[in-house]
Amino acid sequence: MEISKKYLSIAIDGPAGAGKSTIARQIAKKLGYIYIDTGAMYRAMGLYFVRENISLEEEDAVIKACEQVDISIIFEQGEQQVLLNGENVNGLIRSVEAGTMASACSVKKQVREKLVELQQRLAAKENVVMDGRDIGTHVLPNADLKVYLTASTEVRAKRRYEELIRKGESVSLEEIEKSIMDRDYQDMHRDISPLSQAKDAVLVDSSAMTITEVADHILFLFSQIIA
Ligand code: C5P
Repeated sequence: MEISKKYLSIAIDGPAGAGKSTIARQIAKKLGYIYIDTGAMYRAMGLYFVRENISLEEEDAVIKACEQVDISIIFEQGEQQVLLNGENVNGLIRSVEAGTMASACSVKKQVREKLVELQQRLAAKENVVMDGRDIGTHVLPNADLKVYLTASTEVRAKRRYEELIRKGESVSLEEIEKSIMDRDYQDMHRDISPLSQAKDAVLVDSSAMTITEVADHILFLFSQIIA
């Protein structure tokens, strides 16, 4: 798809739990841009495969599922809502299990093609802050600013753990740390669009930074680009 440069975009990629979504949301709000959480789309696809009991090993079934399933997004009070065949599944896709399924199905070419097309269509009609794993390298190669946001595994696991505990999930820190490490490994080693820092992305390590510090830093970088 031809990517329009009529609108501005910030691409934020990085491993699980680096704070991408919180920071991207904050930046989008400050700039009056749309925040697009691409991970939520992979999570919704993962949910579909679980619900329909489709094995990712069965190539034909995966192809058919990708042709049939409808993933779309709407915004409610500025917040992205993912619709799976018309059903709002935002409340169902945040669990550790959904993250694992998202990562597993995200290696599939048909899944990626479907979701990347949706993501590019969205960025072609709005100013966006988009986060994910392949935004700077593949989805929006001409993004105005690319950030690769990371943090140490310990810090990322602790943040994710605290977030899930706040939401009332019963998880252990060890379980979270393991799922983060497994997911990162899978995301970095898949054949198609693996997680990697784009050559022209700015590396930001948020291990010792607050959310506001990271957001302000990215906003500063962006202000210099669009000045
Ligand atoms: O960002 P989040 O943790 O919600 O993403 C869930 C999973 O979806 C990731 O572990 C990754 O496998 C997949 N994903 C992807 N490409 C993206 C965004 C997410 O492969 N752009």
